[in-house]
Amino acid sequence: QGFGSRKECRQLIDYGLVAIDGVDASDWRQTVDAANIRTLTVDGQHWPLLRLPLYLLLHKPAGYETSHKPLHHPSVYRLLPPQLGNLDISAVGRLDVDTTGLLLFSTDGQFVHALTSPKKLVPKLYRVTTKHPLSAELLQRLRDGVLLHDENETLAADSVEQVADCVLDMAITQGKYHQVKRMVAAAGNRVAQLHRLALGAVALGELPPGQWRHLTAAELAALG
Ligand code: URA
Repeated sequence: QGFGSRKECRQLIDYGLVAIDGVDASDWRQTVDAANIRTLTVDGQHWPLLRLPLYLLLHKPAGYETSHKPLHHPSVYRLLPPQLGNLDISAVGRLDVDTTGLLLFSTDGQFVHALTSPKKLVPKLYRVTTKHPLSAELLQRLRDGVLLHDENETLAADSVEQVADCVLDMAITQGKYHQVKRMVAAAGNRVAQLHRLALGAVALGELPPGQWRHLTAAELAALG
């Protein structure tokens, strides 16, 4: 759970610093059903029990960097349970500081690698608010493909749908640097706000900004 080595954890328990669902854990004769544990108390602080390997979905708010070592803004990892600081957890791809919405994290390196590999074409759905009103030509350019600086092939959106005068939903399968912003700029507009709604079959839904939840078994299977 990220509290230390087995030896260190055993010491914490022996010192009476650990409670499981409110019951002191230092009596080694008691049995605990791991599947039903809800909270751990360590040194007076309550922690949600983490089911490992972890597959988490965060609603990223604006103003956080997708990095363990952020330069100018707080790290998105600050929004996850604090004991994760000791576990090797990674974000599945990155969202820009000002981008909001769905961001997945996992301690399962293979899962992270598979979903970020260019070979695995997982559609990522974005709600894009543009600076200028949209036109049918711009939407068509995004569907047909645009050539970005430093790329030798055109990049096309998987799907493009206008939602309002300055709002479109757009899915892409690749994950190039600032891809949506660069595509919209290359098509002749500017991104004012960017929000990720879904990754493959996993949707952000009603989760409030700054909150996280575990992925469900069905969502994991769908990403598999
Ligand atoms: N495309 C971007 O330009 N920025 C993001 O954060 C994600 C996709």
